Amino acid sequence: MYDLHTHSRISDGTQPVTELVAEIAATGLTGFALTDHDTTAGWPEAANQAQKHGLDFLPGTEVSCSTQGASVHLLSYLHDPTHQALLTEIHRARESRVNRAQLMVERLAEDYPLTWQIVLEHVHEGATVGRPHIADALVTVGAVAHRSEAFETILTTRSTYYVPHYAVDPVKAVELVRAAGGVPIMAHPKASSRGKLVSDEIIYAMIDAGLAGFEVYHRDNPPEGRTWLLQVAAEHNLLVTGASDYHGAGKPNRLGENTTDPETVVRIREQATRPHPA
Ligand code: AMP
Ligand code: FE
Ligand code: FE
Ligand code: ZN
Repeated sequence: MYDLHTHSRISDGTQPVTELVAEIAATGLTGFALTDHDTTAGWPEAANQAQKHGLDFLPGTEVSCSTQGASVHLLSYLHDPTHQALLTEIHRARESRVNRAQLMVERLAEDYPLTWQIVLEHVHEGATVGRPHIADALVTVGAVAHRSEAFETILTTRSTYYVPHYAVDPVKAVELVRAAGGVPIMAHPKASSRGKLVSDEIIYAMIDAGLAGFEVYHRDNPPEGRTWLLQVAAEHNLLVTGASDYHGAGKPNRLGENTTDPETVVRIREQATRPHPA
């Protein structure tokens, strides 16, 4: 079985790629995708380590999207990492993520002994900056005990400290991923605990734009959401995946807690339109 959604410290996971891949091998999985937020920087090292451990590796990115005040995560597999139009959007989001984090720190600094410098100490060089790094800094200054506590209290989307960041429209993102030869699968589509959900109308528009599937088996999708997703996937002949969304020590999610079968991975590869390893 495969775990098609994992993070390293190149975004907001807590481990270097080497350690992550060793742990994936120890878990007994057949293969995995590395899907760091808004970056492909971990692909070469993940491919090397996968080969070393005899694991099948699928390169991926979790592309940040937003529309109507809702944040959407689009998993892109096997796209061309040099495709200019997609890169432009990913770069805009990465830059906006830094500005947004600085603004959040300015607001937080009024109530907590937090500085941008302390946040930066938790960001690995070149990593995509996110709320998890602010959460880690809040742990350092003693405001919370761990990352999850920060997300449940100070850093929720409803918090007065929360600032959104720029991200591409999800329908446009589906088009860009397809244009880059990749396979777009919507991550945790019904994860209502994370904040405002995107409307079903937009999900249908993403399907019309070329969405390949839904990540149905993810701990943040509640049972009713899964039923709806499975029904829509069957009606539109979409792929269905499952994954952990592993973030190392930063989240309770465990590697392989949800998985995808090898047949679905074959179908993902069949849909990718640029050369890729078998
Ligand atoms: P951001 O993208 O900057 O708004 O931050 C949201 C990200 O935080 C999502 O990708 C989550 O997966 C990630 N995250 C990492 N650790 C946690 C946690 N303990 N609780 C909630 N979200 C988390
Ligand atoms: Fe994350
Ligand atoms: Fe996500
Ligand atoms: Zn993720």
